[in-house]
Amino acid sequence: MVKETIRVYARVKPLGRRQQAGIYSVDNDEKSLSSLEFIVPRDLADGFVNNKQESYKFKFQKIFDQEAKQDVVFDNIAKPVAECVLAGYNGTIFAYGQTGSGKTFTITGGAERYSDRGIIPRTLSYIFDQLQKDGSKVYTTHVSYLEIYNECGYDLLDPRHEASRLKDLPKVTIMEDPDQNIHLKNLSLQQATNEEEALNLLFLGDTNRMIAETPMNQASSRSHCIFTIHISSKEPGSATIRRSKLHLVDLAGSERVAKTGVGGHILTEAKYINLSLHHLEQVIIALAEKNRSHIPYRNSMMTSVLRDSLGGNCMTTMIATLSIDRRNIDESISTCRFAQRVALIKNEAVLNEEIDPTLMIIKLKKEIQELKDELMLVTGKQRTSELSQEELLQLDELIETFLEDNDPNSNLDVGADMRKIKYCFIHLKQLMNDSKMTDKKLLLQHNSEEKDTNKEVEEEELKKLKELLQQRDNEINILVNMLKKEKKRAQEALFQLNAASAGSTVLEQSLCVKLEESQSPASSSSLKEAKDFSSSVHRPPFLSRQTGGNMSLGCQEAFEVFKQDHADSITIEDNKELLKQRYAEAKCLGEKLNKVRNKINHLKGEITQRHIQRAVLAVSSSSEELNTLDPVEEQLRKQIEEEKKSYKMMLNRLKGLKVEIEHLQLLMEKAKMKLQKDFEVWWSEEAQKLQQEKPEMVSSSNTVTVYPQLRKPSQHLSINSFSETTRVSPSEDPAGKNNSMFSSNPISKTRTPASSSTSIPLTGDSQADADILAFMKARQNILQKKGKPCQKPGSQTKISSTAF
Ligand code: ADP
Ligand code: MG
Repeated sequence: MVKETIRVYARVKPLGRRQQAGIYSVDNDEKSLSSLEFIVPRDLADGFVNNKQESYKFKFQKIFDQEAKQDVVFDNIAKPVAECVLAGYNGTIFAYGQTGSGKTFTITGGAERYSDRGIIPRTLSYIFDQLQKDGSKVYTTHVSYLEIYNECGYDLLDPRHEASRLKDLPKVTIMEDPDQNIHLKNLSLQQATNEEEALNLLFLGDTNRMIAETPMNQASSRSHCIFTIHISSKEPGSATIRRSKLHLVDLAGSERVAKTGVGGHILTEAKYINLSLHHLEQVIIALAEKNRSHIPYRNSMMTSVLRDSLGGNCMTTMIATLSIDRRNIDESISTCRFAQRVALIKNEAVLNEEIDPTLMIIKLKKEIQELKDELMLVTGKQRTSELSQEELLQLDELIETFLEDNDPNSNLDVGADMRKIKYCFIHLKQLMNDSKMTDKKLLLQHNSEEKDTNKEVEEEELKKLKELLQQRDNEINILVNMLKKEKKRAQEALFQLNAASAGSTVLEQSLCVKLEESQSPASSSSLKEAKDFSSSVHRPPFLSRQTGGNMSLGCQEAFEVFKQDHADSITIEDNKELLKQRYAEAKCLGEKLNKVRNKINHLKGEITQRHIQRAVLAVSSSSEELNTLDPVEEQLRKQIEEEKKSYKMMLNRLKGLKVEIEHLQLLMEKAKMKLQKDFEVWWSEEAQKLQQEKPEMVSSSNTVTVYPQLRKPSQHLSINSFSETTRVSPSEDPAGKNNSMFSSNPISKTRTPASSSTSIPLTGDSQADADILAFMKARQNILQKKGKPCQKPGSQTKISSTAF
């Protein structure tokens, strides 16, 4: 590996006849680098004034001044590179400079004299000379000639084309392989077995280049030409081939856009006319910088082709061609500046050795045969590459035994035969893979079974849930049916209750309650007999019947008044009074009976005491005394007998009272029934009359419960009509509860109960007011009948509600 920086040389073109040389000096030091200095005078008229700096100094490997001949240039610059190429390294020589500075002259040479031959013909001559001299190797030489114009490549050596224009030449494109190696598609590699053939190809390329060039496109100054010599070499009998390339590059003119300027700005870098050169410079700058990871080779075709030559596996040399005409000093300085940057680039050239596969196969085959022969000599057996069937079976058995052997120290001994060892490994690998496959299958099977089991469990749960759901549905249906039946039954019961209430009378209810009241806890708690008696009093079935239904307040009021004025009410009152007396008498008798019984019990206790005393006396005294009758005891017994008589009498009386009370109750019931019936008849008549007189009062009513004739035939007055008089608390009266349940008229509950004389104003409620008006009218009629003074309807009415 050769690691070195790019060598940079300078060549100064001789001045033309009419050219004026700029001030420059060349210092070629044999030991170290040469230096080239430009002196720019301050007063230079055409813009190259730089007040700060008059001198520009550049270092080169060697500077070839105007008088330097082509052979010297070749010997110094190209020869060392050609030698490297012959040794197997890649090499590049490129000429860089402005148009007319001698690039083509240096690379290709002048057309007039033989001595003006440039680097390419001289190198070709030199290489073929060397190749002929070196008989130790077999060399193959090819040449290619590429022209890049405007980012397009053209093959200058295509013999099939007689190019008259650049466009007619085959286009060359760049290809990049996966290893990022550049390949030029369509660029022909022409074999040149000797100098003559090679020079002919060069001549062909130059001719193509010249013909294609027109004064208009100035292809020569704007295009780059790369002449490449490809050399491959190998030593006879060796599989190793060395391949090397030598690029001889004639670049496009490096002149810049701006050539004029004042105030020292002119020497700042102007832009290249040629874009490829701009990219070349970018690559050079990037390569010159330390730690620069990305080099923009791909930006142009030229840098792509010269990739290896710049910072890669190549021995590269640059020739900066300078035209030192006064007017070209600036371009010369630019060329030198560029050269200085290039000089910083380090390349690493390596030997490009390849192994020829065909040669390698032949070589290896030979080696194998030699080894086989050797082996046969040692073992005495002819060994083929394949194992025999017998050997294979034997190996199978050995492997089986080895695998079945539980001994950890067991060996699989097949001898020093690689074929057998390999077979064993392959066999074992196969067995292992088979086992893996089986495991996988088993796992899959297990998973699928598990899935099946899970599925079964899920299905079972689903079934259970469905059954449960069905069960609940059935239960709900049954409950709904039951509810419907209950509802129906309740409705029927309500209907029957309403119907039945028509058969009972409120008066009966009232009486029943009054009877209960008469034997209130206060009066009967102490007398068991009295309690027994009251409970034994016969109560007609209709008295205990609980009635529902409605009665408007007006109707109740009317009933109260009607009751007062009814003839039977006196009888009822009388019987009530009598019943009260009998209750009181019965209560008194009960108390007396209790006392008598207690007295009898007390007397019995005294007798017992007496007996005990006498028994004690009998122990202490004589027996005679004991035999005599005890006078005290006799007296006590007499008293008991009297008390018993009295008790019996009183009990008989109480029984008589019971019968009397029962009778009185029946009488009262009868009277009350008659009273209610009379009231209903009268109420109906009055309502009919009222309807005839004022039909709007009826029609204005929202409900049909106001008037008896509008009620259902089964509906009659309820116990509500007596609620004011019974003074039974709601909690004690289930009838009251029922009333509230069945009541559809809230007024009966919200109005002030007529327990005492009550003033009832008109309420504004159509229902209630209609009732009141009806009542007033009825009352008026009654009073008129009885000859009492009447009050005007609408005025406040005092109603005595003291019933019975
Ligand atoms: P470039 O290729 O850089 O544009 P050329 O190589 O075409 O320039 O040179 C321009 C002219 O100068 C040509 O006619 C060429 O013969 C001549 N020339 C260049 N260099 C030399 C030199 N060293 N000695 C004699 N003539 C030269
Ligand atoms: Mg040229």
